[in-house]
Amino acid sequence: MTTEILTATALKKYFVVGRTGWRDRQAVTVKAVDGISFTMYEGETLGLVGESGSGKSTVAYTTIGMYRPTSGSLKFRGQELFQNGGQRPMSLRKAIQIVFQDPGSSLNPRRNIKQILELPLQIHQPGKNRLEQIVHLLEVVDLPPEYMYKYPHMLSGGEKQIVAIARALATNPSLIILDEPTSALDVSVQAKTINLLLRLQKEFNLSYLFITHDLSLMRNVASRVAIMYLGKICEVAETAGFFQNPLHPYTQMLLSSIPVVSVEEEALKPKKVLSTGEIPSPVNIPSGCSFRTRCPFAMDLCSKIDPVMVDTGKGHSVRCHLVSQPAAA
Ligand code: SF4
Repeated sequence: MTTEILTATALKKYFVVGRTGWRDRQAVTVKAVDGISFTMYEGETLGLVGESGSGKSTVAYTTIGMYRPTSGSLKFRGQELFQNGGQRPMSLRKAIQIVFQDPGSSLNPRRNIKQILELPLQIHQPGKNRLEQIVHLLEVVDLPPEYMYKYPHMLSGGEKQIVAIARALATNPSLIILDEPTSALDVSVQAKTINLLLRLQKEFNLSYLFITHDLSLMRNVASRVAIMYLGKICEVAETAGFFQNPLHPYTQMLLSSIPVVSVEEEALKPKKVLSTGEIPSPVNIPSGCSFRTRCPFAMDLCSKIDPVMVDTGKGHSVRCHLVSQPAAA
């Protein structure tokens, strides 16, 4: 697992959401993604975790090409994704696919499953026997072939999401962005969908960028986890090291608030870290470390200097003065 498939360097995506009062008319900007850098490797699952508004879905939509970045670089297998006025070659569009959170709104209700699966095949794999390909796609995701004549409203939520997964597979991609793929599903079908995704990953050597707010789900699914807070990545680590030794106060806060059912799991949880205050408005991000208004360990330094990412070894990186400047703590 050493070949890079997706590399983001100082990636930014800002949105202008309005103007200040009539006197100065300054742009009001939301820094949805504010200079993040990360690398994904072939065949791995990178869990991108954060609360609502942390910018994780903006990363997903930028990677798929729905948004153009404000600045920075995003490379797929070494090839810049945003160049030549933003038009991606067909090979790159085929190679990166997405599964959205809500299958109810991502499938066209006026088309049956055959038509839904036919569209990407028509565009990306013309000239082949489409009916055969559709039957094969349904077989791969464990749906009977007769489902091709059903419409989305005739399927359960789990089945709709499985059709969305089959549609993503239609172009034979290498990287699939999973944008909260199980959060709109009943608990009973979540495990089935996750097992299907894990099987498909092995079968087709897929890489997954798994966007979620559910940190506990990442324990069994992700190879590595990256935590986002207000547009920045604050910690990245391999999953085992991440859960055993979370270093960033925000990560510790998230992990210590996960409900557990056994005494063994309770013993593994980090000491309770209580946050203070509210999540700041994304148009008015605090100076220095953006987590400082909620961090119980905040120091003077935290309001003045934004910490930089520090590699603590074994692929575990963290952005916090407690780690980069322990003498100041
Ligand atoms: Fe808390 Fe300071 Fe670390 Fe930010 S840099 S997480 S405010 S201790």
